[in-house]
Amino acid sequence: MKAVVIHAAKDLRIEERDVEPVGPGQVEVAIEAGGICGSDLHYYNHGGFGTVRIREPMILGHEVAGTIKALGEGVSGLSVGDRVAVSPSRPCNDCEYCLKGQQNHCLNMRFYGSAMPMPHIQGAFRQRLVAQAWQCHRVEEGVSIHEAAMAEPFAVTLHAVARAGALTDKRVLVTGCGPIGALAIIAARAHGAREIVATDVMDAVLKRALDIGADRVINVADNADQLSAYSANKGYFDVQFEASGNQSAVRSGLEVLRPRSTVVQLGLGGDVSIPQNMVVAKEIEMKGTFRFHEEFGLAVDFINKGRVDLKPLLTGTFPLNEAVTAFETAADRTKSMKVQLAF
Ligand code: ZN
Repeated sequence: MKAVVIHAAKDLRIEERDVEPVGPGQVEVAIEAGGICGSDLHYYNHGGFGTVRIREPMILGHEVAGTIKALGEGVSGLSVGDRVAVSPSRPCNDCEYCLKGQQNHCLNMRFYGSAMPMPHIQGAFRQRLVAQAWQCHRVEEGVSIHEAAMAEPFAVTLHAVARAGALTDKRVLVTGCGPIGALAIIAARAHGAREIVATDVMDAVLKRALDIGADRVINVADNADQLSAYSANKGYFDVQFEASGNQSAVRSGLEVLRPRSTVVQLGLGGDVSIPQNMVVAKEIEMKGTFRFHEEFGLAVDFINKGRVDLKPLLTGTFPLNEAVTAFETAADRTKSMKVQLAF
């Protein structure tokens, strides 16, 4: 089979790999769609992020869906021919965090396509993936396999929504409208948000945010005053989903959040400075959100039942042998929201 392997920054290769044997409790999936994520792009463009670096060749990818080709011993509830979305989250279910139901904090997590541990955890951009049956969630007939492959980033935003608390009737600010910000808009809307305002620095991105359900969009590069107007009377928004990782988005968000509101930080920008006085005086809760676990099944359920439409986020699909072009295109925010590979 062919796999998409990163060796170093800007060194992405299509390589032949052996298909793994299918063990008990496992299934073999012919991968059909794989979405390129921000972390894949970091490995491609920079060879890693923060202290995480590529130290050995690694198959990229963790947003995948495909069709089951073989079943291992003892697998029930799945059949050959079933189309499935595959959760890349593989916790040990044995460490102290797993036993508390916090699998996203597993001490022995084997999340696809991660260079955090050594040896690296090989990813899912490959023609055949052998996965545990419990990672596989059946996709209903008629649902696009490409939409199914967006279950993973959608699950990230469903977890962010869970961290935020109830959103019914809330006024929500989403800063940064890449794929995660856009999916946060969809997730917040599905959870009853009354009003959603989204910001970014690019008009093309904001146009899509409007199309997928934001009530208002603001280009803060050109019209920062439109956002700061919301700071009157101690602020306006109940919840901010910060998906840019940008310091100014964090700071301006704090100005327009109301007392006792919540910031959920999704974007990874590294070290930023924040006005502590504002956090203290407005009693703002700052929360991080990291990956997901049980939300993956919920994401697939939303997609299966047509309760969300993630298809407008897909801006490009490239065949496997054009992976480099796909990665270059995905990195261009003027053109791309979500770019996928077809296997
Ligand atoms: Zn664990």
